[in-house]
Amino acid sequence: MAKVWVDQDTCISDEICASMYPEIFEMRDDNKAHVIEGKEELEGEELEQAKEAADTCPVAAIHVEE
Ligand code: SF4
Repeated sequence: MAKVWVDQDTCISDEICASMYPEIFEMRDDNKAHVIEGKEELEGEELEQAKEAADTCPVAAIHVEE
């Protein structure tokens, strides 16, 4: 299991992560990406998807802590 979180202070709201993996990331009313409730700790395929999103985020706002 790994913890996944988004630093909203860094997020530039381009919606890439939410478009890539809408089952893990969502845009909220603050116009920032957030990890969907219940997806804060991931393993297996979803963890790999979160890592891919973290690598894709242009400002490295997505954090994966293993
Ligand atoms: S990819 Fe990064 S900058 Fe873009 S919405 Fe997601 S967290 Fe924010």
